[in-house]
Parts: sequence; structure tokens; C-alpha cells
Amino acid sequence: MTDDDADHSTAERKMQFLYALRSKGVTDSRVLEAMENVDRGPFIKGLFSGRAYEDMPLPIACGQTISQPSVVGLMTQALEVSPRDKVLEVGTGSGYQAAILSKLARRVYTIDRHRRLVHEARGIFQDLDLVNITAITADGSFGLAEQAPFDRIIVTAAAEDPPGPLLAQLKEGGIMVLPVGQSDAVQHLIRVRKTASGLEYDEMRSVRFVPLLEGLGKDG
Ligand code: SAH
Repeated sequence: MTDDDADHSTAERKMQFLYALRSKGVTDSRVLEAMENVDRGPFIKGLFSGRAYEDMPLPIACGQTISQPSVVGLMTQALEVSPRDKVLEVGTGSGYQAAILSKLARRVYTIDRHRRLVHEARGIFQDLDLVNITAITADGSFGLAEQAPFDRIIVTAAAEDPPGPLLAQLKEGGIMVLPVGQSDAVQHLIRVRKTASGLEYDEMRSVRFVPLLEGLGKDG
């Protein structure tokens, strides 16, 4: 294969990737631009690395998964992130979602219960020069009290109900997007808006996420 062929196939794969996002309802231009600028390749290691540009969830370390790009796009779009926002993500996983948020927000805090995933994600953030992300090993269901309140909160693991501490750490006027439902059943993405008069809930599409678990993962 010549260099020209390689360039051509990379450009084509990128176009197909963006086309898949658009056809699944990701239409916000800032979100599409952020997703165009964050290569999913570095976030997937080993056996599945060749499939990074397909619209599929894929296995990562610690028995977890990197979400499907169109679901990442729809959740990010629903979050309505603006450039001044401080965002909390629960469920760092590969770090891909956090990297996209880092292009849209002022500051991103991301938490995972697996020390290994946090360590690997930090390495990628450094390589990509994404200096506005802080990755932390902890049980994210308790949020991050020392940095609260947050303009936006995104949870990328499924709980039966929105965790109370996260609702408490959301700013008034803030938005939280998360999957709810049991891990072995149909889950729904929901969007919660915190207003002066209380919480407003919107139900989005059905999804399948790994469960939000208590405590730290076995690796620390
Ligand atoms: N957003 C990720 C995908 C997340 S997969 C990406 O872009 O790749 C869900 C992640 O949630 C897993 O890595 C899992 O370890 C983490 N998780 C599950 N329960 C958690 C908890 N209580 N606190 C923090 N992370 C948790």
C-alpha cells in the first residue's frame, strides 16, 4: 500500500465514522467537531484496535467496555456542554468520553473505581496534551465533594437510580446524563435538569452499560 492509499483510507474511515454519528442523531456541530478531533484509536489496545472506527462498543482492560461512539455522541449532545463548564464524569474506562468532554468544557474531572484504567487514561491524556482533565481513582457514586458543584455530570455506568450525592453536587441550572436500570435488563438514558423548583427528568433511548458498582476494583 502506498502512502497515498493509506491517507485515502484514513480519510474515508473518518468520513464513515462521522456519517454513522450523524445518521444516529448526533447533529450538534461542536460535538461532531470534538469527535472528529479525538482519535478513538489510542483508547483501544490489543486485539480490537483495528475496529476503533466502527460504531461499536469494544472490550477494554478490567472487563470493562469503551462505549459505542454514537452513544458517546448522543450523551455528550444531551449534556449541552459550554466552554465555561466544569464537568464530572463517573466511569473513566478508556478515557475516550473524557477526552471529548475536554474539547468542549473548561475543566473535566473523571473518576473510575479501577486504578489501572485511571493510570492508562492519564497516560493517553498526557500524550494528547489534554491538560484540562483530572483523572481520579475512587468510587464515583459519591461524586467529588471537594470540586462540587458541577455544571454538568455524566455517568457512563448504569445505576438503578441516579445516585443522591451526584444530584446534590449538580449546580442549579445544571444537567446530568446517565443510564438507569438493572445491569442485566433494558436500561434507559435519562437527562436530569436541576431547576429552582426541583428536578426535571427526560427519558432518551434505551442502552446497555456495565453496572455502577460499589467500592474500588480488585486492582486497587
Ligand atoms: N466512559 C468510558 C466507558 C465507561 S465503562 C469510556 O469512554 O471508555 C464504565 C466504567 O465505569 C468502567 O470503567 C467501570 O470501572 C466504571 N465504574 C463502575 N462503577 C463505578 C463507580 N462506582 N465509580 C467509578 N467508576 C465506576
